[in-house]
Amino acid sequence: MKRTRIVEILASKEVGTRFTVMGWVRTRRDSKGGFSFIEVNDGSCMTGLQIVADGKLHNYLSEVMKLQTGCSIEVVGTLVASVGKGQEVEIQAEEIKVVGWADPDVYPLQKKRHSFEFLRTIAHLRPRTNTFSAVARVRSSVSHAIHTFFQERGFIYVHTPIITGSDCEGAGEMFKVTAFDLDQVPKEEGRSDFTRDFFGHPASLTVSGQLEAEIYALAMGDVYTFGPTFRAEDSNTSRHLAEFWMVEPEMAFCDLEGDVELAVNFLKYIFAYVLENCTQDLEFFNRFIDDSALKTLENLVSQDFKHITYTEGIEVLSKAKKKFEFPVSWGVNLQSEHERYLCEKVFKKPIVVVNYPKGIKPFYMKVDKDEKTVRAMDILVPKIGEIIGGSQREDDYDTLLARIKEANLEPDDYWWYLELRKFGSVPHAGFGLGFERLIQFITGLSNIRDVIPFPRTPGNVSF
Ligand code: ATP
Ligand code: MN
Repeated sequence: MKRTRIVEILASKEVGTRFTVMGWVRTRRDSKGGFSFIEVNDGSCMTGLQIVADGKLHNYLSEVMKLQTGCSIEVVGTLVASVGKGQEVEIQAEEIKVVGWADPDVYPLQKKRHSFEFLRTIAHLRPRTNTFSAVARVRSSVSHAIHTFFQERGFIYVHTPIITGSDCEGAGEMFKVTAFDLDQVPKEEGRSDFTRDFFGHPASLTVSGQLEAEIYALAMGDVYTFGPTFRAEDSNTSRHLAEFWMVEPEMAFCDLEGDVELAVNFLKYIFAYVLENCTQDLEFFNRFIDDSALKTLENLVSQDFKHITYTEGIEVLSKAKKKFEFPVSWGVNLQSEHERYLCEKVFKKPIVVVNYPKGIKPFYMKVDKDEKTVRAMDILVPKIGEIIGGSQREDDYDTLLARIKEANLEPDDYWWYLELRKFGSVPHAGFGLGFERLIQFITGLSNIRDVIPFPRTPGNVSF
């Protein structure tokens, strides 16, 4: 079946050319003049294509007049200039074949607007809506932009494992991977005996590809990972998923300043790319979801980012008149209310915050000379707060060993991570970006469940 995508037909504007269009009916309107207008959408772009179905079509009464929202059709016809309002061109149909019917009495998607909550319960049909097809196109474009950004700069794409035997940050929020029959787990002194499990060792789904990316950075220079990550945290928020995608570049011979520079360039590149390549979808989000979405993106591309230290941030926040839910003092973690206040109210631009207290950051971040802070950086943006978190990594063997012990982790579990500091250790740095948080920011969608095709959250693994 040879078809032309609607996006290509609309871009070509080749009036007089015959095309075959295949897609799903959005609406049918019948004219008193004995013909009908069918709006068909094939997901290739936001706009559908208007099909004019003449009453003389052999199946006009038997089939065309019965077409309803959700039916799939194949149309052969000629592109003509449209006299009607709302579209420049339309297809004058010579033939309309019904590929698949959709009974309007039971088809869940109607022409009216449905709530996002309802659409989550029909994740098999929601990509047929404007919002979810736009999200899918934006996700695809941003993925392309991410790869292009790194590939153009010579970064090697490394496929880090999804099943891991190490726990990156020592957080107890990992999904276990096992081949045990859970009703009959072999025990040794009352505890599960993982030596008899598939890997002979406890295994989990990865929470980050960073540690493995460091291995490759310390052999190949500049690398990145871009893959799924998993967290079994029971946080039912609009910003947390149990399965999400993460982008993690890692650079050898690089310090914190180089890391910040890459992160800022990266964000600007992505935002400029979507403004250029997802114009129609972004206009849709701007119109129906968040009327400041476009302006925010444009500002991010053109504005310089504000650079401050954590200590400076705390000083500003302590003087703020606003009453925060989480009180501020040196040593506490910044909450998203603090981050947003700094971005939206104080500096009115994106902010790079560096040198966080070592007590609130993971063991692998390089300790500063003052031994109080670490070479960490977070990038904060309006509406979201933290969008990127990164650091220069500890490259000194003894300091790293001490930090692992301080964090109550087992040094033996990190033997290879420690060895990288023993053999040809170099300063290196990287960051992590939550892909869905980025898509939330770009689209303005407030719930993270609506920016991933099949959200996994506590109590929800359907589809
Ligand atoms: P948060 O404080 O929001 O829970 P975090 O400090 O746990 O984030 P990191 O461990 O630094 O996050 O992970 C790197 C990035 O991954 C975050 O900046 C964020 O964009 C994203 N991220 C973290 N947890 C989730 C999640 N559960 N769902 C979606 N994205 C996430
Ligand atoms: Mn978290």
